[in-house]
Amino acid sequence: MSVQTGPLVIDTHELGRRPGNERTYHLSVEVPAQWGYDVYGVPEGSLIDLELRLETIMDGILATGTTAVTATGECVRCLTDVEDEIDLEVQELYLFDRPSDPEEAEESQWLEGDLLDLEPTLRDAVVFALPQHPLCDPECPGLCPECGARLADDPDHTHGAQIDPRWSALTQMIEPPKE
Ligand SMILES: [Zn+2]
Ligand SMILES: [Zn+2]
Repeated sequence: MSVQTGPLVIDTHELGRRPGNERTYHLSVEVPAQWGYDVYGVPEGSLIDLELRLETIMDGILATGTTAVTATGECVRCLTDVEDEIDLEVQELYLFDRPSDPEEAEESQWLEGDLLDLEPTLRDAVVFALPQHPLCDPECPGLCPECGARLADDPDHTHGAQIDPRWSALTQMIEPPKE
């Protein structure tokens, strides 16, 4: 973790480090960078409302958050715009100190001073929840390979035996020359 600034960095100073202390927050923040994949995700600048509870326990601060985000992108088969509402519920322990064991540090989050950065936790939860192959419909038939029409809009259209003029020259090359 590096220098922590951002809309999802929370100063836990007022919460204190006595086990049992608890505080709830309502945050309305902009997503600081695209969460997800290039073609599908929660876009940078999306506004999210986050209900957050912080609870001090022995080793650190337990953060529990709930929010709903909207992921947008394109159907991988027909390229139509796709939008999904995703309810997120995250829970993460932020240790007071960085673990000395590197392997443990790899799997842990910790506070930087009093600052707790929720962004990696939320981002990971979004990536985990997103479909890797977004579809406008599970049965989306995709695009017509001949004309590119969206088959869901026009499932019965055919091109008969017609050959696209762009391909006819190619067909002639493939057919053996006639004597
Ligand atoms: Zn589709
Ligand atoms: Zn077609």
